[in-house]
Amino acid sequence: MDVESLLSWYRNNHRCLPWRTDRTPYGTWISEAMLQQTRVTTVLDYYPRFLEHFPDIRSLAASSEDEVLKLWEGLGYYSRARNLMRGARYVCEHFDGELPESSDLLIRIPGIGPYMAGAIASQAFQEPVPAVDGNCIRIYCRLYALPMIPSERTTYNEVYSRVAKDIPPEEPGDFNEALMDFGSLICTPKSPRCTACPFATECSANLLGKQEDFPLKKTKKETPVEEHTILRIFVGKKILVHKRPSSGLLAGLFELVDLPGNMEYHEVKKWLKDNLLEFCGDSSLAASFIEPDIRVLGTGKHIFSHLRWNMIGYEIHLPDQEPIKGNAKKFGELVSAKKYGSLAFASAIRMYR
Ligand code: SF4
Repeated sequence: MDVESLLSWYRNNHRCLPWRTDRTPYGTWISEAMLQQTRVTTVLDYYPRFLEHFPDIRSLAASSEDEVLKLWEGLGYYSRARNLMRGARYVCEHFDGELPESSDLLIRIPGIGPYMAGAIASQAFQEPVPAVDGNCIRIYCRLYALPMIPSERTTYNEVYSRVAKDIPPEEPGDFNEALMDFGSLICTPKSPRCTACPFATECSANLLGKQEDFPLKKTKKETPVEEHTILRIFVGKKILVHKRPSSGLLAGLFELVDLPGNMEYHEVKKWLKDNLLEFCGDSSLAASFIEPDIRVLGTGKHIFSHLRWNMIGYEIHLPDQEPIKGNAKKFGELVSAKKYGSLAFASAIRMYR
């Protein structure tokens, strides 16, 4: 690769981003965690708020999981938020609250993998180490017409060794960031802007006229679909919520009552009768189950990386009633509107909140 052409393109076209203009190792770490699988424009909203709330590693280490998840709400891939918190605690315990300066030590921190270690070490500490992500793989596969599948280990190794040869020791951070911007703005996954590309005359894929054929595509498996019924249940002015388990999909986030299948009105009514009498006691509520106040909130869908949810939502109003002791846990807990607003919910059910 003509490294000077890439750096010169970067000097003239780089994006002005807050974590670049005010560069700190901690800010670099947070921005890299937020940028995984997420658009820059989305991160621009979250980054300053997160740093305002947790200005340094020690404040993040001292936070609660609910606090971190609330600030992360809507960004998705919530394991990143939990990993940041775990990572911050590890840094306080093993590195006296400061990120270590080498990629070899950074990679020991929970949540920091080879890409992020390379990105932080090169950008914040000027270590000449590659940061190979999907952008980088796409660019190199096109430049050299490498017939490789991005997700395979051999592809990563091949691209890593090419980047390691190209990375300039005096500007490693700019080089890695230049690849990121170049992959986002010019050598994009679809319709790359080859006419504006400084490598147009040397790029093998472009010369072959097969830019979008590189890297090779893996044949896609069909995404599994799950059906859910989401119930926003008011008991008086309180709302029934449930915290998801601490591991697995959407771990640690709050949700509304979530039942399997796309239930119809009469099924919801039956479920209420069968289950919520147990929750709230049967005497004063019995009348409300003859014709309960149920409103349809509509259908929705959410696409995860490996799964799709098709949903239907209902809002239900029940008379004010304290849950029977011992049964509350089975269904979740009743919270006030104020507390409800402070809880971190999965964006999958945002339309029903
Ligand atoms: S010529 Fe096109 S495909 Fe090749 S590196 Fe440039 S933008 Fe990418």
